[in-house]
Amino acid sequence: MASKRQIWVGGVPIGGGAPVAVQTMTKTETADLEATMEQIRTVAGAGADLVRVAVPRDKDVVALKTIVTESPIPVIADIHFNHTLALKAIDAGAHCIRLNPGNIGGRDKVAEVAVLANARNVPMRIGVNSGSLPKHLHALEREAPVEALVAAAVEFVELMEGLEFENFKVSIKSTNVPNTIAANRLLSEKVPYPLHLGITEAGTKWTGSLKSAVGLGTLLADGVGDTVRISLSTFHAEEEVKVAWEILKALGLRERGPVLIACPTCGRLQFDMDTVVAEIEQRLESYAEPIEVAVLGCAVNGIGEASHADFGITGARNEGLIFAHGKPLRKVPQDDLVDALFEEIDKSVGQGGRVDVEEAEAAEGAEWLAKIEQENAGELTPERIAAMEAAAVQATEDPTGPGSGDERADGDAAEAGDGAEPYFKPVKRGRVKLDEDASPTQGRRFTRTG
Ligand code: SF4
Repeated sequence: MASKRQIWVGGVPIGGGAPVAVQTMTKTETADLEATMEQIRTVAGAGADLVRVAVPRDKDVVALKTIVTESPIPVIADIHFNHTLALKAIDAGAHCIRLNPGNIGGRDKVAEVAVLANARNVPMRIGVNSGSLPKHLHALEREAPVEALVAAAVEFVELMEGLEFENFKVSIKSTNVPNTIAANRLLSEKVPYPLHLGITEAGTKWTGSLKSAVGLGTLLADGVGDTVRISLSTFHAEEEVKVAWEILKALGLRERGPVLIACPTCGRLQFDMDTVVAEIEQRLESYAEPIEVAVLGCAVNGIGEASHADFGITGARNEGLIFAHGKPLRKVPQDDLVDALFEEIDKSVGQGGRVDVEEAEAAEGAEWLAKIEQENAGELTPERIAAMEAAAVQATEDPTGPGSGDERADGDAAEAGDGAEPYFKPVKRGRVKLDEDASPTQGRRFTRTG
C-alpha cells in the first residue's frame, strides 16, 4: 500500500498515493555548473521528476545556489558526514536534503539541520545503507540483516520524530535484492512515511537494470515505494531514468511515451528484425504520445496478439504490412516498412490521433495477410501454441464461460480521435542511423537500405 504520509519536494508530491516519482543523480562534479546543468536538463527531458546532486564541498554549495534556480525539476542535495554542508545547502535553496543521520556526527548536529529544515519547510530523505549500519546493530546484522536494516531505519525515524521533524521520506538500501525487498516490506508496515526505493551499487546498465527491475518491481507491484532511483554504473544519468520509467510503465503505474512490443523472433522470421526493432525503439524516443507499436517478425499469425496495438508492422519475403488497431492499413515494400510505419504514426499524431484508412489499400493488405495465414495454417507458431494453451486453460476453468471467441476490443482505428480530446501532440523527431552490421540476422532474407 502507498505510504500514509505525503511530503512535497519542490512541486513534486511523494507518497500518500501520489504517482511514484522518478529520480536520478547527476554524475558530474556539482561545482562544474555547466556540465551539471546540462545533465539535469537531459534527465529532466528523459522524464526525471527529481534530481539529486552530490554536495561534498563548499564549492558545490556555491554551484547549488544557481542550480536550484535554473533546474527545471526540484533538486535534492546529497550530504554525507558534514552537517554544516546540509545547513548551507538549505540556505542555498535545495528542495530536499538527503542525509544519513548515522554519519553526520551525532544527535545535536542532526537536530541543528532539522531545526533549519523545519523553519524553511525543506523535506529530508533519511536512510540507511547496508554498508553503514550503526555499530550497535552489527551483531544483529550478521544474524538477521533484514531486521538490522529495519531496526536502523526505525531508530532514525524515531530520532527525527523526537526532534519534531516529520517532513521526511525514508530509504533502506542494500546491494542484496532479496534483503532490499524484505526490508522495505517490513519497514512499510512499521512507518507511515514515504519510502524511497533503490538497489545500492546495482551494477552496469544490463545487470543493474535487471536487479532493479526485480527488486523495485516486486515492491512496487505490492504497492510499496513512493519514489525510485535506479543506480547504474554509467555517466549517462538519463539511462537510469529510462529504466525507472520502463519499470513503472510495465507495472501500469505511470504512463509516458510510446510502448514497443515485439515478437521474440523464431525460425519463421522474415526480416532483420533486431535492427528494425532497434531503429523503431530509437525513433519512438522522440514521441511523447502513449502510442503502442507492435513489430511482428512474420505474417504467419496475421496480426494476432498485436491487434490491441495502435500501430504495427509485420513482414513476409519482400513485402510487409502496416496495421493499426488490429486492421490492415497498407502493404509496402519490405525496405520501406519502417519509414512507412512512421509516416502513418506522424499522420495520426498530426491529426490528434485519428487514423485514416484508405479502403482499397486496406483491402489489398487484408487479402495479402489472409493469403499468408492460409498458406501457413498448419504452422505451430509460438503465438498459436500460446493461444491453444490459453484456450485449454479457459476451457478447464470454465467450459461454458467466455473465451471461445475473440473478445478483444475491436479498436476501430477510424474512431480513435473522433470528438475526443486529442491525446497525440506533434513533436520534433529525426531519422536514426543504426549499425546494420551489428545484426546476427543481417542480410538473412533482405538487406535494408537507407
Ligand atoms: S512466428 Fe511469431 S515469433 Fe516467429 S517470427 Fe513470426 S511473429 Fe515472430
